[in-house]
Amino acid sequence: MLYIVATPIGNLKDISLRAIEVLKDVDLIACEDTRHTKILLDHYGIKTPTTSFYQQNRFVKAGYIISLLKEGKDIALVSDAGTPGILDPGYNLINLAIKNNIQITVIPGPCALINALVLSGKPTHRFIFLGFLPRHSQARRNQLKRLADLDMTIVFYESSHRIVATLKDINEIFKDKELVCCRELTKRFEEIMRGNADQLLEVFKEKRPRGEFVVLI
Ligand code: SAM
Repeated sequence: MLYIVATPIGNLKDISLRAIEVLKDVDLIACEDTRHTKILLDHYGIKTPTTSFYQQNRFVKAGYIISLLKEGKDIALVSDAGTPGILDPGYNLINLAIKNNIQITVIPGPCALINALVLSGKPTHRFIFLGFLPRHSQARRNQLKRLADLDMTIVFYESSHRIVATLKDINEIFKDKELVCCRELTKRFEEIMRGNADQLLEVFKEKRPRGEFVVLI
């Protein structure tokens, strides 16, 4: 069985009892970064062996993990944070497991996009998740323009390096629309910022953006 196990997005206490049990019981844990996951495993006294499964080795490593699953091993898949498969290489392994008729299940838990959506207070019954927007402004603006007429909540992930540039593009396309910027969810400096792009840009003029962001329009 392949267990897709959600892990904390900041606060180490955000893990289910079932997730801890599964991580203890499986034969192997496939992690994006074994050193990063070790912090969580040590915190909960989990001694299960780990193996790396990340962007660059995902194709070769997925084949190896599938071969172990076929031998009857139980394997857990975790990412650096949150729900595996949501913007991390987990997707490739999950897809290959399905093609190989491997039994899969999810141990649910934190996911930055869902946490932010709920906290935003925006309609949750219809939303679109864009992952990360394109790095280059022109491509980013083109994507945002295509979405401008959608009657639904738009959610995407953003880094502290690009948030200001992205807000400037949003300002051009969405003008006065109220945005929500969720920063450092579940962490010590969690912050939910609300306002139009202009107002949020003012905030970032005074305070350099730091940490991880989810943005909602
Ligand atoms: N698998 C993860 C999940 O379930 O949300 C997402 C992985 S994605 C590679 C990482 C991005 O998620 C970050 O750059 C940030 O935009 C967002 N993110 C993750 N943790 C966050 C947090 N605690 N607060 C705000 N955003 C977060």
